[in-house]
Amino acid sequence: MTSNSDKSFYVNLKASEECLCGREKKPPFPFCYLCYKELPADMKKAIYQKGGIEEAIDEAVKYLQSEVW
Ligand SMILES: [Zn+2]
Repeated sequence: MTSNSDKSFYVNLKASEECLCGREKKPPFPFCYLCYKELPADMKKAIYQKGGIEEAIDEAVKYLQSEVW
């Protein structure tokens, strides 16, 4: 399950003022604070690293979907 052809997903996610969980969030963060807080420390770091960011967001979304949402 890859989303290579869907870069806009990440762009929209970061630009949005609504987190995927439905709560309000602040751009350019990909998640609201409560979701962000639920992520393991290494994922939190990965999200804010340049380069692997899309992959990191992907991982984080999967984690949140299975563990939090
Ligand atoms: Zn959220």
